[in-house]
This record gives sequence, structure tokens and C-alpha cells, in this order.
Amino acid sequence: MKLNKNQLELINKQLMCLNEIEDEKCFYKKKFGEISLIETQEDFENLPFTDKNDLREAYPLGLQAVSDEKIVRIHSSSGTTGTPVIIPYTAKDIEDWALMFERCYKLAGVTNKDRIHITPGYGLWTAGIGFQNGAEKLGAMTIPMGPGNTDKQLKMMMDMKSTVLCGTSSYALLLAEEIAKRGIKDQICLEKGIIGSERWGKKMRNRIGSELGVKLYDIYGLTEIYGPGIGISCEYECGMHLWDDYLYFEIIDPKTGEILPDGEIGELVITTLKKEGAPLIRYRTHDLTRIIPGKCKCGSEFPRIDILIGRTDDMVKVKGVNIFPSQIEEVLAKINGSSSEYQLMIDHLNEKDICTLFIEIKPNFNKYELEREIQSQFKSDIGIKINVKPVDIGDLPRNEKKSTRIFDNRY
Ligand code: ZN
Repeated sequence: MKLNKNQLELINKQLMCLNEIEDEKCFYKKKFGEISLIETQEDFENLPFTDKNDLREAYPLGLQAVSDEKIVRIHSSSGTTGTPVIIPYTAKDIEDWALMFERCYKLAGVTNKDRIHITPGYGLWTAGIGFQNGAEKLGAMTIPMGPGNTDKQLKMMMDMKSTVLCGTSSYALLLAEEIAKRGIKDQICLEKGIIGSERWGKKMRNRIGSELGVKLYDIYGLTEIYGPGIGISCEYECGMHLWDDYLYFEIIDPKTGEILPDGEIGELVITTLKKEGAPLIRYRTHDLTRIIPGKCKCGSEFPRIDILIGRTDDMVKVKGVNIFPSQIEEVLAKINGSSSEYQLMIDHLNEKDICTLFIEIKPNFNKYELEREIQSQFKSDIGIKINVKPVDIGDLPRNEKKSTRIFDNRY
């Protein structure tokens, strides 16, 4: 995708604002110094990338690009490792985010007559409140549950007659399994699921969709760039439409930084076009995807990226072969009897890399036969030999937040 005239103007407007910052300790001053305005695609592509480490170093408020009286809120990315990242928002940033999120609901066919059940967490991170603000902008009734307490979730879902479930794929799966187990499906009024913040395979998608009897939509976003709601899949399920009037997207080779042509898989890089509190220039998301060329059947003019293929840091190299979680899911999708839940452990023993795949098997399937079948499918599709350990449904951990599926124990 090339920058259009409007995007180029908006980037220059942002750069001019950054040049007005006087505080020498501010992130932008330290990173860019005086930034020259851009005239061409090439000028833009010569601007340096921004990485999460840059943002961490700016902790606590080094990213704040406007004066204190303009900032109305901060959010923080869940820093499981090291210092968190703090993102300051102006009132206009919050409004723009809600407008983008409202667009997401509309593209998914959600209206102000729907009742939106929100299970992502509220607080410092952007998840729950993002779903909330967008739904209120749309004028729908929200049920701000937050995560956890399955009994209460299901009670409210039945009593409030929730029609839209918002959550992570692993939590949606947990709720779907609980509804099936309790035999209460006829009391559930859900029609749609808006699922965000982690990558999930076809098999898991089909399971959640069929057990809940809902149509599912993938929503995309990250705290550093507003939060969830910067893109969503449409009814045709062919990637996610992104709001390119607010953001500019590039796909790069994660190793070399080289810009890849549309259609090729690489790391998604995002530049904000209208953000005031903490604009980001060429921010590396570490999400692996590709730009889908051509127009979507739904008629939307907004460009698309594919659903997430993985994280650049999930990509593991074993015996010279690159493995992504999505490849493992493709293998498992071919195996009748395997479920969507798995964990791949990689260990280094006696100078050799050893892969063990733990996989949940549906009841009444022969574990020994499936072990052989998965092993040989893995070898023929991905090219390496692994050990397979079939386990029962429910044996692997379910997570309300993000699931890790590949564990590299070698280093
Ligand atoms: Zn579409």
C-alpha cells in the first residue's frame, strides 16, 4: 500500500506538532531531533522504526506529546516482562478511538438494539473500556462484566439476554464449553461474538461458533495504537478491514526491515495519522500478517490485512525450519479426532532439539492411532519429526487472557 495524499498531509501535520515540543527529555526529541517534513513515499520510508523498547525507555510519560491540560487519560500495556508502556490520550484521541470502534460494531452488523456483553478486563489496559466506549457511541446497551466468575457471566447473559459477546477466543471457548456442559444453550440469546487480542485457528473458531451458535468477528488493535477497534473482519471472513483514514500500514521483513509487497507475510508496522497524545511513527507491532490485495466482496473500500498468523517472537526455528502457530493449526485441522487445543514444547537434550506436541483428543478416538497420524502429518507438512502426546479434552490450561501455545525451553 502506498501513502495517499491525505495520509501524507496528516503525517506532516503530526511531524510539525512533534517539532514544536520543547522538552529535551521528551521521547520524540531524543529519537528524531528536528524532523524534516516528508514529500514522497521514499522520504517516509527513510524515517526510523519505533519499537516497544523505545516506548519502555520513555516510561513514565516521555511519550506525552502535548501539554498536561490536554491529557485526559492514560492506558498501559500489560508489561509481563519489564517496564510497562504508558500511553497518554487527549479527549480527541478517546473520541477518535470510540468512532473507530463504533465502525467495527457497524461492520459486524451490531446495532443500538443489541445488548453487548463485555468480558475483557477494565482498568489500566485498553480492552474492556475500548469495547465499552464504542458500544456507547453506537447507542447499544452494554453489560460491563469484565473477566472471570463464570457463574455470574452466564446468569447475566441469560437474564440480560445478551446478544453480542466480546472477549478473547480462549474465554469465549471456556464459556461455550460451560454452556454446553450445563445444558443451558436454549436460554442464551447470543447472535454474534467479537473476538479480539489473540490469534486463533479455524478449528477453534468453528468450535466456538457452533457451540454458541453465533457468527464470529475478529477485532484487531493494540494498546500502543489506541487499543482494540482499529480493524475488524466482515461477514465474508477474508481478513480484517483497517481504518486507513486514522492509520497507515506497512508490512516489513522482520529480520531486515525491508518493505514487502502486498500479499507477502511479514511484520505489521503502523503509523498514526491523527493521534495527539502519543503519535507513533512506523511502530513495529511484531504481529505477523499480510496485506490482502484487491477489493472485498462486502464492498468496503477499507484495505484488509489477513487474520494474525502469529507474533514475530512466536516464530521458532527448529532444526533449520521456521514454525508458526498457524502452521500447527493447519496440521491439526486435517486430523479427525484432534481438538483445537495444543501446546508445543521445544527442549534441547543431548545436543538435539526435541519437540513435543501435547494435543487434546476428542473422546472415543484411539490415542495411539492419532499419535501416529499427527506425527506423520506434521512430518509431511512442516518437515520435522516430533513427539506427540495425546491428552483428554480439558487437560490443557484455558486462559482468560492470552494463551501461549509454543514454549521454547532451549535457552
Ligand atoms: Zn469485507
